[in-house]
Amino acid sequence: MYSNDTIAAIATAVGESGIGIIRISGPEAIAITNQVFEPKQDKDLNEVESYTAHYGHIVEEEQVVDEVITLVMKEPKTYTKEDVVEINCHGGTVVLRKILDLILNQGARLAEPGEFTKRAFLNGRIDLAQAEAVADLIQSKTEASMEVALDQLEGGLSDQVNDIRQDLIALLAHLEATIDFPEDEIEDFQSEELGARIDTVQQKIDDLLATSERGKILKEGVEAAIVGRPNVGKSSLLNALVREKRAIVTDIPGTTRDVIEEVINIDGIPVKIIDTAGIRNAENQIEKIGVEKSEEYLTKAELILLVVDISDGITDEDKRLMRDAQNKEVVVIANKLDLEHQLELEKIKEILPEAAIVKTAAIANQGINELEDAIANLVYSGKINAQEETMVSSLRHKKALERAKENVSDVKSTWEQGLPNDFLTIDLRAALEAVNEITGDAVGEDIIDQIFADFCLGK
Ligand code: GDP
Ligand code: ZN
Repeated sequence: MYSNDTIAAIATAVGESGIGIIRISGPEAIAITNQVFEPKQDKDLNEVESYTAHYGHIVEEEQVVDEVITLVMKEPKTYTKEDVVEINCHGGTVVLRKILDLILNQGARLAEPGEFTKRAFLNGRIDLAQAEAVADLIQSKTEASMEVALDQLEGGLSDQVNDIRQDLIALLAHLEATIDFPEDEIEDFQSEELGARIDTVQQKIDDLLATSERGKILKEGVEAAIVGRPNVGKSSLLNALVREKRAIVTDIPGTTRDVIEEVINIDGIPVKIIDTAGIRNAENQIEKIGVEKSEEYLTKAELILLVVDISDGITDEDKRLMRDAQNKEVVVIANKLDLEHQLELEKIKEILPEAAIVKTAAIANQGINELEDAIANLVYSGKINAQEETMVSSLRHKKALERAKENVSDVKSTWEQGLPNDFLTIDLRAALEAVNEITGDAVGEDIIDQIFADFCLGK
């Protein structure tokens, strides 16, 4: 168990800003604040109502340190279920550090990363999946990934997990009862109904697992590499996609010497686009670095945006790239649509029959929406159900569900073999344990520590 001491941390981002917040939680939170805070209206913070704000000064040896507003929240209806005080002060690093030091000098301990949320979990206000969603929410890259995190924070995932848990518990309870009772009473249940109930819970696990692919995509995004020989317009396309000029665009082939990465938002998916240097036979050292990077990215990236030049025929270099991309998810971009067409699309289709082909004129911003659609189709291909909100977006949850799924299918095959009920309960218990890990009912302290170590300070 954790020690129920009083912790404090700067809760806002470090750096210059309008306001900064110091958060204090624990049994001494109010008493400690009383030591450093001088309210304008001479009030003892112990006496004030919960969820009230108090204007005044932070003072050190009768010297005013800052002008602040102190928010007092009394247990148990707080973030941590403990007494919580938030001091809203001016946002400079020096001021924040100074006030934090004063509070630490009064006996508070500097909070570890994620410790406030960890207390919310340990004190039973939220479960582990909800706690993890706090970090996801802070780190979410697009609105869609934020919504997934918010749903998880509000218990959407936990509800579905609990539903599965209830099914498993009910099955287990029944089976255990039958172990102790004469066989004739439970015969019906054993045959038909039991099999159906195992199928039901298996389906629920499958349904939840089915969301994990999209959940992962929304949370982590995908990597797409723009490849193509020099001068076909890769950098111009990237620029058109991010709609701000970052990559250096020039007429001299091979000037993108290293890779440039930009994250763009396509239908809620964070897509990291990597602009590689043109793939071509290396003549000098600098270019070689770029070429190697390009090929590395071509093999590594999940999506390939292969650019060809409409005003040219398909060259051997183009063909080589297309072959390299054959077992990948590819969008072929026929760029320079504004120039005279030389390109034969059939030749592309011969090598990449499945690939979507989009025509663009990067410099004129033409075809960019179609390109975005093609990327979105590739990412989502058959994987979405736009209605669903609750998604498994964490690898930890996915792995636990996969174990539960395996255990439940073991239960099913044991049942099919007609083995005694106590054989079934072993795997059922294992499934239950796996499911419990998601909400944190059965995880070791080491796993909990690891989860909260990924949090930022003050959360
Ligand atoms: P990269 O080497 O593949 O990254 O190609 P760049 O983006 O640097 O572009 C090479 C040249 O082609 C530049 O002069 C661009 O202005 C030009 N370019 C890029 N896209 C288009 C386009 O759609 N139409 C025309 N006419 N020129 C383009
Ligand atoms: Zn370039």
